[in-house]
Amino acid sequence: MFNGDYVHGMSIFKLIGPLLILLGLTTGAAANPHSMTPLPNEELSQSLSLTNACSKVNIVEWRQDGGPNEIAKNKLNAICNKVIGDFPRFFKNKEYNVTPIENFTQSVSIIPIDNGFRNLNDIIFRFSTRSFIEYDENGDLITILGYHQRATSFIYIYNQVLIDGKLNKQFRTVFAHELFHALSYQFGIFYQHDGNKNETEEEMAQDFTEFMGYGR
Ligand SMILES: [Zn+2]
Repeated sequence: MFNGDYVHGMSIFKLIGPLLILLGLTTGAAANPHSMTPLPNEELSQSLSLTNACSKVNIVEWRQDGGPNEIAKNKLNAICNKVIGDFPRFFKNKEYNVTPIENFTQSVSIIPIDNGFRNLNDIIFRFSTRSFIEYDENGDLITILGYHQRATSFIYIYNQVLIDGKLNKQFRTVFAHELFHALSYQFGIFYQHDGNKNETEEEMAQDFTEFMGYGR
């Protein structure tokens, strides 16, 4: 009898156990508005990878009116590949050990800039754990245009790649800036900074976009 019950219990668990785990994962992820990475319903059904040296840079979320746009994607390709080309040149006369850039891997979310639920400046839910949340003298949140998260190798950026069908130069600067952080962490530059690493890193990202001819 004991054996029978035991076997019966096991077989029921074997049947419903994986089902419960599966349900837990899907409903759990969908129900967590604090997840910084995109929720299943926010992800593109198929991520878009960039080209050439950026072929492992994947756009996993792209939310804007009209959806992902081919002209905008070409601009992202051009910016990313120029960043990869300029990165080693930027360090040429600096005392940093720069390893060759291979297999640069990054995820990108392109999302609305406002503080609406799950958008770029939503610090109540999606970006509640973001570093460097800053307020102006009136106590209003300073809006950010882009954010790089080291732990997950993710770039979050506002969705105004184009303005009136033409490249938005401010977007270009921000994307190059965030890509600099991504490369710096992935290829060991950040860890070589002296003193306050975060301050040096931020200054250097701005110097880099200026070096590229994109302004700070
Ligand atoms: Zn920065």
